[in-house]
Amino acid sequence: MRAGFPDFRLGSVLATSFTGTLSERHGDAVERIPTPQRLIDWLAEYGLAVDSCTPAQLDLARELRESIHAAATAAATQDALPAPAVQVINDRSVQGRAAAVLTPEGERRWRLSSPSRVEDALGVIAADAVSIVAGERDGRLALCASPTCRAAFFDTSQSRTRRWCDMNTCGNRQKKARFLANQRKDSGSPRC
Ligand SMILES: [Zn+2]
Repeated sequence: MRAGFPDFRLGSVLATSFTGTLSERHGDAVERIPTPQRLIDWLAEYGLAVDSCTPAQLDLARELRESIHAAATAAATQDALPAPAVQVINDRSVQGRAAAVLTPEGERRWRLSSPSRVEDALGVIAADAVSIVAGERDGRLALCASPTCRAAFFDTSQSRTRRWCDMNTCGNRQKKARFLANQRKDSGSPRC
């Protein structure tokens, strides 16, 4: 973690982890990729290493992020997909030129057409969003139960009953809030 910047919440699903770089959208929003360098750092965490990023490319990334958030939210609530969001996702997907390659160990790696092509990395994220919004992958899109968060996340649990985007943050906070509410109830005087 770089000093002074909020840390990342790294999930296993690329597209919804990317939308998680802006958290608490309905509360005090936390921007986790406030600078081009932080986008570079985030991409590296997901095997999409780039060696540079311009402010314009960061804008492109944030536009894609909010478009994925809008489309995933609509999909989770079974509303019609917002056309402008779909357009942005499709544009980024079409303009990406990353290739999936196999390592000798049989793992997938992404190879960008050039190390400065943030657009290639965004294309991979956009394609990932297409696959989950289209229901191509095993799982269910849902919205975080925290009222200040409402992040779209991809539930791959067996029972498909996950309630929070992230157990360590939103999940814990909700549990704590419920615990405190119960304590207050228990200590309240019945005559008041
Ligand atoms: Zn959440």
